[in-house]
Amino acid sequence: MIYDDEKKITVSAVYRLLIASFLTSTAFAIFFNTYPTTHIIDSIIPSIDAIVLLIVLIYYHYNPHTDINKIIVFYIIFFILTFSPSTIYYVFMAWNSEWRFVDEYPPVTGLMMAIIMLGIIMLPKQYRRYIVLMWASIALPIITYLLNHPDELQTPRGYELIGTFGPASLLLYVVFPFQKSIRKHINKVTGDLRRYELEAGRDYLTDIYNRRGLDLWLGQLNHDDRVAVLLIDVDHFKQINDRHGHSIGDRVLVEVASRLRTIYFEKHTIARWGGEEFAVLLVNPKTNTLPYIGSMFQHALGTLPYKSVGKITVSVGVSSIAHHDDFLDLINQADKALYTAKDNGRDQAVMYNSIHPQLAD
Ligand code: GH3
Ligand code: MG
Ligand code: MG
Repeated sequence: MIYDDEKKITVSAVYRLLIASFLTSTAFAIFFNTYPTTHIIDSIIPSIDAIVLLIVLIYYHYNPHTDINKIIVFYIIFFILTFSPSTIYYVFMAWNSEWRFVDEYPPVTGLMMAIIMLGIIMLPKQYRRYIVLMWASIALPIITYLLNHPDELQTPRGYELIGTFGPASLLLYVVFPFQKSIRKHINKVTGDLRRYELEAGRDYLTDIYNRRGLDLWLGQLNHDDRVAVLLIDVDHFKQINDRHGHSIGDRVLVEVASRLRTIYFEKHTIARWGGEEFAVLLVNPKTNTLPYIGSMFQHALGTLPYKSVGKITVSVGVSSIAHHDDFLDLINQADKALYTAKDNGRDQAVMYNSIHPQLAD
């Protein structure tokens, strides 16, 4: 349903990030194992990355209900662990004059910037600061080192590194507001859709479910729930309209709905089935309580006078009990029982099973 859309987007983003990261790590692993550098770490890290990411992907595929936030946290920590320690290692060793940083540091700056940008665009806002932290833990050691070693800074690689982690990082400030506005837009659209969906399932006059709302409600029942239907129809409603006017008729319908709302027993729901006809859906009722429930509704609606028109009566048709997939059959049963109630002089509740006793449970 619509409510899950935001989560679906996050899940798909994480999936894509995992797959893209796996493919990239694999490519780097193949490259550095084909053309090894003097640092074994360059061949090992991408290989480990590829294997770990593949394991996460397989795990997530078979456990799709894993909390997506855990996977995100893992993903971010994983990249911090991959890039930060190795960067710090290269900076540290260079600072100790073991080697020149610009000559030895592997060509992964483009990859890191791409991952950081994608992370900021695709992941939910609450993870942004961890991604910035990830960027800082890589960028700050490199920038500090280069500024302290002008001979290395003034090389093509030095300029490239300082450019990437310096001015080019400012691009992150383009990404931030962009991501914010996308998420804001998604939230607004999701909220609107949720509201429209709720409204579409409600009857405008009485604010209880309409047929559509009842249908959605039925869809949320448990797999083996059984139901019974009561159809309640106001007697001689046309006369009420004729005598008091249509808007008073409307008011009576609103009052019927608010009385229906106050009637409570285990699991049930109410809906305006159409015109001056209301449906009550009972979930897992007991067979022997059905006649009682039918006349309870009849009396609850028909005994006390209404504010606008005084006393009215209603007729009630009660279906048998069946699996909720057979809802429409139950409606038909309730309708037949209601018809019988009207025929028998109105102001009464009739059980479908009493007019078709062979079907009684
Ligand atoms: P019965 O006892 O056989 O049910 O008689 P009835 O007059 O209630 O039944 P009938 O179906 O002949 O008339 C139903 C009336 O309900 C006709 C229609 O104008 C009126 N009605 C349907 N929807 C509304 C509504 O939203 N507001 C108002 N005021 N009247 C409505
Ligand atoms: Mg009627
Ligand atoms: Mg009617």
